[in-house]
Amino acid sequence: MDALDKLKLLSDASQYDLACACGTRGGPDHRVRGKDGGWLYPVSLPSGGYSIMLKTLISNVCGNDCGYCPFRAARDVPRCTISSDEMAKLFMEYQRKERLIGIFLSSGVVGSPDGTMDLLNGTAEILRRKYAYRGYIHLKVIPGASDAAIDQAVSLANAVSVNIEVPGEKHFSALSQKKDYLKDIIHPMQRIAELTGKGMKHSRVRQTTQFIVGAADENDAEIIKYTYGLYKKLNLNRVYFSSYQRGLGNETIPGERRGIIDSSDGFVREHRLYQVDFLFRQYGFRADDITFDENGRLFTDRDPKLVWVESHPEKFPVDVNKADENTLLRVPGIGPTTARRILKMRKSGSIISSSGNLPLKGKRLALAEKYLKY
Ligand code: SF4
Repeated sequence: MDALDKLKLLSDASQYDLACACGTRGGPDHRVRGKDGGWLYPVSLPSGGYSIMLKTLISNVCGNDCGYCPFRAARDVPRCTISSDEMAKLFMEYQRKERLIGIFLSSGVVGSPDGTMDLLNGTAEILRRKYAYRGYIHLKVIPGASDAAIDQAVSLANAVSVNIEVPGEKHFSALSQKKDYLKDIIHPMQRIAELTGKGMKHSRVRQTTQFIVGAADENDAEIIKYTYGLYKKLNLNRVYFSSYQRGLGNETIPGERRGIIDSSDGFVREHRLYQVDFLFRQYGFRADDITFDENGRLFTDRDPKLVWVESHPEKFPVDVNKADENTLLRVPGIGPTTARRILKMRKSGSIISSSGNLPLKGKRLALAEKYLKY
């Protein structure tokens, strides 16, 4: 295989890792590639719109046994490894032709965690030093990497991630006999949180992670509890959720066997988890604000904010002229932009006397009206 053939194989292999800004537009279409090239991915930009990123593994060789993973050692799939030199050179060629926003590099575990980190860090080092590349680099931190390797990744990258995969040791040990949840996953996340904390030298480096939803017999309540803890205790910038896909790893999954998980609703489940994540990051919701059914599942037929509203009739109607931002954000139809606009209108002396001067339109106005008083 030449370097380009390797890149084709390895970038195809990286499509199910979402722990970057790539393709989280919701629904199954978020795994569709960009039109710009076979292995380039659309990336949503904070300022709106999309750009493209080269997203690839550096190797899909792996000695591990993670039950949800198509590249676990026991599977018979074509495998290869690309060198740091080749990867950096290919990326720079694409960078010049396609104006990529950056590179997302991940890998199977080739030999040892630190040996693999050498490949990933080595690529970033060549990009930064030899090619003077100042753009975006996201490096996956390999489970079990040493503190020294993690420190080096943080010093080279704009973002790093360790995939947490499942909420807790019990579920993790059902999926992998070779990896240790606390030592190989949680410790690296803690190390990154220390290095990137407020006031630290690398405080601008982002840390993200990903759950595989439905790979173990975890329920939504467990994922939500961990997600909230990751934001509050480890200062994560983003948590991503990827629905387990039958046929890529195990043919049946533990949760399905126990009747807890219906894999056919995987994308809906993933979508509801993203909605809760949004409530945490943008609406001031806490983990104990989220309501589940008797099996710890989110309601798939309603969004989680509406479920909270329906279970708290005593909180409504909200006085639109007196409520603080967090209270306004609990009103259906009102999001962060509208809440800020209402506060601004009030500051400039405007009294909102009817729905006629609410900064809302159409369906959202009709929805919010039911929960407001003037
Ligand atoms: S360590 Fe990563 S590549 Fe290897 S089997 Fe586990 S998830 Fe797959």
